[in-house]
Amino acid sequence: MNNPRPPRVGILGAGQLALMLAEAAPAVGCEILCAGRSGDCAEHVAPVLPVDLNSPHAVAEFAKCVDILTIESENIDAHVLHGLPLAPNARAIATAQDRFLEKHFFVDCGLEVAPFAPVNDLVSLHAAIREIGLPAILKTRRLGYDGKGQVRLSHPDQATEAWEAVKGVPCILEGMVDFDTEVSLIAARNRSGQLAFYPLTENFHRDGILRISRAPSHPELQSLAERHLTHLLERLDYIGVLAVEFFVRGQHLLANEMAPRVHNSGHWTIEGSDTSQFENHLRAILGLPLGSTASRPTVMFNCIGAMCPLTETERFPSIARHDYGKSPRPGRKVGHLTIPAQHPDATVAIAHLESLFATYP
Ligand code: AMP
Repeated sequence: MNNPRPPRVGILGAGQLALMLAEAAPAVGCEILCAGRSGDCAEHVAPVLPVDLNSPHAVAEFAKCVDILTIESENIDAHVLHGLPLAPNARAIATAQDRFLEKHFFVDCGLEVAPFAPVNDLVSLHAAIREIGLPAILKTRRLGYDGKGQVRLSHPDQATEAWEAVKGVPCILEGMVDFDTEVSLIAARNRSGQLAFYPLTENFHRDGILRISRAPSHPELQSLAERHLTHLLERLDYIGVLAVEFFVRGQHLLANEMAPRVHNSGHWTIEGSDTSQFENHLRAILGLPLGSTASRPTVMFNCIGAMCPLTETERFPSIARHDYGKSPRPGRKVGHLTIPAQHPDATVAIAHLESLFATYP
């Protein structure tokens, strides 16, 4: 029998999301090739070619080595992505990488959002403060992640300082939402338009960085969130995994931002779901049927700055450690821990990690 060559997926980027996509590849039967830098953590499981992701020529040359390209970060310049065999498509990525376009898109699709206004200079910042009121957050339109590129304002006198802090780049001013909690929905859409949704996940941030995710959560909002993502996915003719973060206020979901890729709040699906977000992303972009998203209650703790010491977890068989093999650095995501909540020792293990992570860097 003639064995066809396995399909080869190229990932633009070689960090932990690429690493976990590569870990899912054997289940799907594809090969992974990453474009990144020597020493990037995906190197532990997949070949990483040195590619300058700001160079359209270098990326186009990399594209020739693979059958399909995908991304692990939306912060790749749109002109680099033009004309490439990319899933999700460049329009979805361009929308997600600009907070102003993204918010407009949410509104166009009928989603609720926090009040927002564009800010291009100090004059428009003062106008936006009058329109939206305070407290509010000034957010750079592009390249913001994990709370970076954000300044909180509680008084108009802080406008000049805030504008200097964002270095005068195009921004939006966003009204502060007095939310009950934050959730995200992760969905996949494949080339035949098949859709799959994971349960809503509740997310806890500190200093703008995700610390803990718990799924499932807010089952009463699941169908509303699924309707919202169905609109977004179909309007974008989206292929792959999409994550949308929402603020929950009463029975309302206010869309905060979307990530056109696998997402940190879905890492729990590796242990917690029949098919992980990583495998379903690969299945979607390769034109395969999506796997079951049936899931069990699961909690995920992010290791920020340094990996959680083994001595804190080894006595709990329920804890699955994911060490990305990155060197420690303040604020850096270096690994995560997952606990299936139905495991006999899960209650004690979760309580232990909750107290440990309350003061964890
Ligand atoms: P973002 O980068 O927009 O996801 O913001 C990071 C975190 O800052 C969010 O997960 C929230 O915890 C908080 N945050 C962002 N925008 C707002 C807002 N408009 N109102 C209240 N908190 C916010």
